[in-house]
Amino acid sequence: DAPTASNFIRNVIDEDNRNRKWAGRVETRFPPEPNGYLHIGHAKSICLNFGVARDYGGVCHLRLDDTNPEKESMEYVDSIVEAVRWLGYTWQQGDKNHLYFASDYYEKLYQFAEILIERGKAYVDSQSAEEMRVNRGSLTESGRASPFRSRTPAENLDLFRRMRAGEFAEGEHVLRAKIDMSSPNINMRDPVIYRIRFAHHYRTGDTWCVYPMYDYTHCISDAIEGITHSLCTLEFEDHRPLYDWVLDELAQAGEFKRPLPQQIEFARLNVTYAITSKRKLLQLVTENHVDGWDDPRMPTLVGLRRRGFTPGSIQLFCERIGVSKADSWIDMGVLEQSLRDDLDNVAPRATAVLDPLKLIVDNYPAGSEETCSAPVHPHHPERGSRTFPFSRELWIEREDFDEHPPKGYFRLFPGNKVRLRYGFVIECTGCDKDENGNVVAVHCNYFPDSKSGTEGSNNYKVKGNIHWVSATHAYEAEVRLYDRLFAEPQPDAGGRDYLTVLNPNSKRVVKAFLEPGAAVMNAEDHLQFERHGYFVADKIDSQPGKPVFNRIVSLKDSWGR
Ligand code: ATP
Ligand code: MG
Ligand code: MG
Repeated sequence: DAPTASNFIRNVIDEDNRNRKWAGRVETRFPPEPNGYLHIGHAKSICLNFGVARDYGGVCHLRLDDTNPEKESMEYVDSIVEAVRWLGYTWQQGDKNHLYFASDYYEKLYQFAEILIERGKAYVDSQSAEEMRVNRGSLTESGRASPFRSRTPAENLDLFRRMRAGEFAEGEHVLRAKIDMSSPNINMRDPVIYRIRFAHHYRTGDTWCVYPMYDYTHCISDAIEGITHSLCTLEFEDHRPLYDWVLDELAQAGEFKRPLPQQIEFARLNVTYAITSKRKLLQLVTENHVDGWDDPRMPTLVGLRRRGFTPGSIQLFCERIGVSKADSWIDMGVLEQSLRDDLDNVAPRATAVLDPLKLIVDNYPAGSEETCSAPVHPHHPERGSRTFPFSRELWIEREDFDEHPPKGYFRLFPGNKVRLRYGFVIECTGCDKDENGNVVAVHCNYFPDSKSGTEGSNNYKVKGNIHWVSATHAYEAEVRLYDRLFAEPQPDAGGRDYLTVLNPNSKRVVKAFLEPGAAVMNAEDHLQFERHGYFVADKIDSQPGKPVFNRIVSLKDSWGR
């Protein structure tokens, strides 16, 4: 395991541990709302929360933060559970399963609201939404108290119970915390904590017609579960006083014991050429700009998985980008390099010709064949070798032949010698063309004593080294080559409509020829096609013997093009 970089959050925990604030206990949570699929931004939060819990011998809860009945569903819950597991984390501690749903706390949340009302800390407001907005004031203007702010606890309790009973229409009343209408922090100007919604909830059905607001729900969920450090993104910094206020009031009422969970904010992750907003990703899916949530171009975890990114590469990425208090854009190249670094040492090597051109070895006897071999992995001789046949007709890359080459071109052109990697040295003798002048086949002769791994091979010094597969033995396979989904590094920056900068050439499908061994990979197996990059057998469409490969990344960083 790579050592985990220290960060300011770990410093807080270390300090708490020194002071025995939590008696050494560390309990975090990852709290997604089940209203979409998780994306690479969530991975940062997952790795942080689960990573901290793991390193301090604690536990991280997976909590579905599901208090918006309109947009949530079980499909999203299932995808979230699967994605976090896939990333390699567990919310199981001993025989305790720390999987929670905020909707399981509805009754408790409601009872706590009644307690706040009884203690004069919450009131039912009956202003219109527009009046409330105006009276909340602004950064430069203090708020004004609602005419309903002075309702008595008894009056409020009666109204709130009737809200729950469904006696009022949506928008007729809300419940507000009674804090401070002149606070410089607008979040503290009597925030709404309950609203009326006649909406069906995917778990509680039609049981409720009042639903708690996020700020009220989140801190209470943390306290109910015994969370010690509640890590969230920077946009919640201004909400922290409210988080503390709610818990402090309930602690004063004897409902929670101190110490109370502490909210700590960190910077959101933005990755270039990607979008990290569930709402915008949903739009890409519903408007068919991509082939679903798991389209390999999507920055969702299901998309990254289908593309071929490994859990290890995403964990490595999250370690490398660190955790800070300053928002920034991380280059997509950092994620890709993490994939290379994760796979380089493990992915078996294989040969694929992606843009095939026939090469005919004229002095090799027709109908004959022989075996060539290459290491499974160049740095791991213990993993043995792979074999593939050599014969008279081969496939090579079209770009490895040039009838009229530019200066410095070392690959095939008439009169030049190259090595067929792991095979023989050949000399190009010419090419065949169709009526339009397109090259349709290249001719060469081979040197029988030049075979790689034999003594005679040392007598040949050539500058070019090209890959190939035997035409009669190769497997034909579909290979999907992906490029950036967007043509701009910050697709949605400055409020730009990201749909206007979609890259129209982000997906290219080619027919490729593979060495026979590469055709029997199982779905989600990874390999490196030499010279071309890292590939994965597609999770859905690939079968042993009928392979479909996705290119994950090329061998070199090409994002600076
Ligand atoms: P979105 O805007 O995509 O809907 P969200 O923050 O509303 O994102 P949640 O489901 O509430 O989505 O997110 C769960 C957790 O993941 C939260 O704690 C949130 O702060 C964190 N998170 C979401 N996006 C990012 C990101 N880009 N970088 C780091 N953490 C993130
Ligand atoms: Mg959210
Ligand atoms: Mg959101």
